[in-house]
Amino acid sequence: MAGIEVSALHKQYPDGTVAVDRVDLSIGDGELFVMLGPSGCGKTTTLRAMAGLERQTSGDIHIGSTLVNDLPPAERDIAMVFQFYALYPHLKTRDNLAFPLRAEGLPEPEVRQRVEAAAEKMQLGHLLDRRPQRLSGGEQQRVALARALVRRPRAFLMDEPLTNLDAELRADVRTEIKHLQAELGTTMVYVTHDQVEAMSLGHRIAILNKGRVEQVGTPLEVYNRPASLFCAAFIGSPPMNLIPVDVAEGELRGPGGLALTVPPGLPRDRTLVAGVRPEALEVTPPQEAGTIPGRVVSAETLGDEIIYVVDHGGDQDVRVRMPPTTHFAAEAPVGLRHVGGPPPVYDVDSEGLVA
Ligand code: ATP
Repeated sequence: MAGIEVSALHKQYPDGTVAVDRVDLSIGDGELFVMLGPSGCGKTTTLRAMAGLERQTSGDIHIGSTLVNDLPPAERDIAMVFQFYALYPHLKTRDNLAFPLRAEGLPEPEVRQRVEAAAEKMQLGHLLDRRPQRLSGGEQQRVALARALVRRPRAFLMDEPLTNLDAELRADVRTEIKHLQAELGTTMVYVTHDQVEAMSLGHRIAILNKGRVEQVGTPLEVYNRPASLFCAAFIGSPPMNLIPVDVAEGELRGPGGLALTVPPGLPRDRTLVAGVRPEALEVTPPQEAGTIPGRVVSAETLGDEIIYVVDHGGDQDVRVRMPPTTHFAAEAPVGLRHVGGPPPVYDVDSEGLVA
């Protein structure tokens, strides 16, 4: 097992595209580290550089204490699982699993023993004699995971391995991956554009944007204090309300007079927005104490919650997450208040967190 250090990693493709822009990452030994970001942000290129499938323009990658820049993939002692399972179609599950071990020249009794242990772990025992075309998508993906597992690499690198599964299977296999990683304690770098996957899997998450790292933190840190306006708009569904605010007299006020708890030390000479999660706002009957007047624009019922869009006199309406027991119809006059602690505040010009 080994941690992974990425220092000033830079990748410019021959056509001039800068896919990875001086990225630093320090991934701990045994950590499940997620790289999250929108399409094209450089996640896959970073992962492929770790794997040795892509040569970086500059920068260093260490796996454990080994500088791997010049090592081919086979000598890096990592196992990759991709979005496309790439099983050998003519081989039964057992031989698909055995393939990398036979390629390493392991004796046959050990191959058999490792294949059976991995199959048991991924609950594939009853599928060992089937070929891939007779396996479901989820089963094929479990075979691909088991094939990575048999090798006992120093690290797993996973690139959107669940993308081709339906929602229910995705949740099941996600749980299996999480258990497996915890049990083996093997470092795992997991690439996804799906924030639910990132939040539920990652010990820490790196949020990438345009080839750069915007934030590295635990799921809660990333959710509660997004490090930039980009992260604030990217994390959460619906995402934070970005409410323009004035700092005056120790108070933070949004348009329409919405009062927010003030984080200390706010600069007064900048254009600021507060990042207010939908669950940190509350819709009430009109004229309740401590509320400002608003009007329901729409109510989206999601079963376990309702998302109200509320016009409160600002340029932009706000989204409010409420329990399904609330009933405010579209056009209804309502009260609106902030119920959370101090929200993170961002400088519109630098797009950075100021408090
Ligand atoms: P996705 O989630 O869509 O896979 P990603 O975050 O993994 O995206 P990359 O695949 O790493 O992003 O791509 C980063 C950038 O590099 C994108 O702008 C992409 O178009 C570009 N890119 C990727 N491969 C090449 C290539 N071979 N030549 C030129 N540009 C490339």
